[in-house]
Amino acid sequence: MTTKKMEAERKYECHRCWVEMNKEEVETFGPNIVIDVCPKCQGIWLDKDELGKLLKDRKLTNYLTKHIGTKSRSPMVCPKCGNTMDIEKADDIEVDVCLTCGGVWLDQGELDALKSKSEEGFKGDELAKQEELEEEQRYKRRNSPLHRFLGKLSR
Ligand SMILES: [Zn+2]
Ligand SMILES: [Zn+2]
Repeated sequence: MTTKKMEAERKYECHRCWVEMNKEEVETFGPNIVIDVCPKCQGIWLDKDELGKLLKDRKLTNYLTKHIGTKSRSPMVCPKCGNTMDIEKADDIEVDVCLTCGGVWLDQGELDALKSKSEEGFKGDELAKQEELEEEQRYKRRNSPLHRFLGKLSR
């Protein structure tokens, strides 16, 4: 409980502008959530699962945050855990997803773009997703069950 509360109050820095981000409460389809917004570039940081609360369509959220592969294609580092991020595409919208903690970085305007996309009923590029899924599976095979077990413990 305590850890969770501390986590919610922790301030993040925008890893584009290096300024502290502001906490903003936003309405969702469920209870309101607090997200982090950069006062300079208006980028948004969403913890894992927060994107799912903002978008009506689960398919789009799953597409962007599940099976994201293991290779980093983004120059950005995660504002939360400092690990590498990957770029995930929903058609023309490119978002950065952390390979480690599953958080999502959205540039200004991308949240609205994703919202309208999810309302349109997003299908996704199954072929591209399949490649990332295979990449993930290859990675898992390279890691022994013991490694995976230890990985889970440190999470
Ligand atoms: Zn910024
Ligand atoms: Zn992270």
